[in-house]
Parts: sequence; C-alpha cells; structure tokens
Amino acid sequence: MHDRLAHTAEHAFIGSLQKILGKTLQVRKVEHKAAASTAFIVIPRLNLDTILKAETEVNSLIAEGRNVTAYTFTSLEEAKRKLPNLRANEERIAGEVRVVEIENHDMAACVMDHAANLRDCDFFLITRLSKSGSEYEVDFAVGRQAKEVAVALSARLLRMCSELGANFNTIENTAKKLRSENESNASKLKALGREKLDAVIPIANNRITLLKGMFENLADDQLQEFAGERIADANTVILIANVGSETASIVFARNEKMEGIDCTKLFRQFAGSDGRGGGKPHFVSGVVKKEAIARVIDKIASEILQ
Ligand SMILES: [Zn+2]
Repeated sequence: MHDRLAHTAEHAFIGSLQKILGKTLQVRKVEHKAAASTAFIVIPRLNLDTILKAETEVNSLIAEGRNVTAYTFTSLEEAKRKLPNLRANEERIAGEVRVVEIENHDMAACVMDHAANLRDCDFFLITRLSKSGSEYEVDFAVGRQAKEVAVALSARLLRMCSELGANFNTIENTAKKLRSENESNASKLKALGREKLDAVIPIANNRITLLKGMFENLADDQLQEFAGERIADANTVILIANVGSETASIVFARNEKMEGIDCTKLFRQFAGSDGRGGGKPHFVSGVVKKEAIARVIDKIASEILQ
C-alpha cells in the first residue's frame, strides 16, 4: 500500500540526512508496508547516531508545520539545471517532471502523492537500521503507526531495564558493562581451559605419543584449536572430550604424516550408534552421548596403543 504520509516524511528524512552528511543521497527505492516503510539508501557508511539526529530534525519540521509544494519542469535535465543538488527518487523519470519541495528544507523529483503540509505526518519514528550489500535499509513509521511502535518499544525498554537492574538513563552503560564483563570472563575461561589442556600428561610408547583427556565445560573451538596445534608434533595423537550437560564433544586427531591410524574409521567403529561426526582420516570431530564418552575414548586409546 502506498502511504502518502509515510512517503512525505521520507522526503523530510532524506533531506535531513543530506544536510547532516553534506551530500546528495541516492535513494534506490522506498517500500511502504503495513508494519513499516523502508528506505533503501545507497551509501558506503551510515551510522545510528546520524539517523537519530535526522529523526529528531524531522519531528521538529513536523511540529513547525513546513509546507510541501510541487513544481513542474519540462524534463529532469531542466530541473537538474535549475536545481543542481536535486535528488531524483525515481531514476526512470521521463518527460515532464514534478519537483517536490519541503519548505526551506528539501527538493526531490518525485511522481508520487504527498501531503500538503508536513504537520499531517504527526510523528516520525525510525524503527531499524541495517546494512545490506552496498546499501543501508532504514525502516520508519509515521503518525498513529509510529506512536504504536513507540509505545511497544518503550515497554520493551522498560522491561529490559527491570531485567538488567538498570534505568532509562543507565541502561546503555549497563549493557556495555555486561558485554565487557562477558568478554573478560570468556577470555579468563579460555586461559583456564588452556591450562587444563596443557596439563595433560602424554602416554607414549615406541610408536606414538597420545594426549588423552576428558574435560567439562570448555569451549569446543578450544579443543579444535589445541588439537590443531599439537598434532604438528611428530607421532602425536590427540584424543580429547569436552563433556557438556547432555552430550560430549570429541576431537580425535593425529599428525598428518603418521600411518596406520584412520581416525574416521576408528571413531565410527567405537562410537557406533552412540556418536556422530566425521572429518578426515587424520582429524575427526564429533558428538557422543554423555554416558558413552568414557568408554569410547578408552577403547580408541587401547586400540591405538596396542
Ligand atoms: Zn515523493
């Protein structure tokens, strides 16, 4: 459905963005749907603060009641000659062209219907900013739809404040703090995990050096990383499991030059229906039922140490 008011607000919004960014923008298209409208803007970078600044200005222009006026030119070329910074919302405009002006704010060539005054838009709200390829998509709503979205967003924000023990003024800092604490905890956990993995005592015979161990709650990618590093050592085999709440992940790998150990085959043979996974003859990762993991690891170990 084409929405005259949403469309008019879009002119004002792009006008504000152009002023903030100091250049004429290319709007590839604008879609008007029941839930929201979307403007597709071709631009290498567009950040949230810029969008929010433009949103504030559009609402000021609405409150001021800026007039919206249309002029007709014989061609797009003539219009662009007289108005060098003119934006054309529709690249395929042919013949006579209509230029829509928002009083002392924005000029754009456009064939669609517009409100006579920006005041009719009532309220303008940005609801989403996302990047897609070489363009940005900005979702927005106007009037009653915008107010409904604003109420829903405010409710969600207040619930988030309550959940995080923050308030309207502190929630951004609280979220940043939680994120940085989470990153710091993850890196501490990784360091502890590495200490545990490095403490594995190798079992060696005259053919192989086996690093075998079972751990709990390590990061799975850490197992892969550890195995990848250690199998660089000659004659080394890694057989480690990470037990989670219901299943255990397993990495079974060996130095690529070793012969006589087919990790894929041995894993399938001993895990059977209790496990799934695969990889290459020298590097297998998989998942095994929690109650079966100790047995699977022990059987593979005794087979390769024989
Ligand atoms: Zn228009």
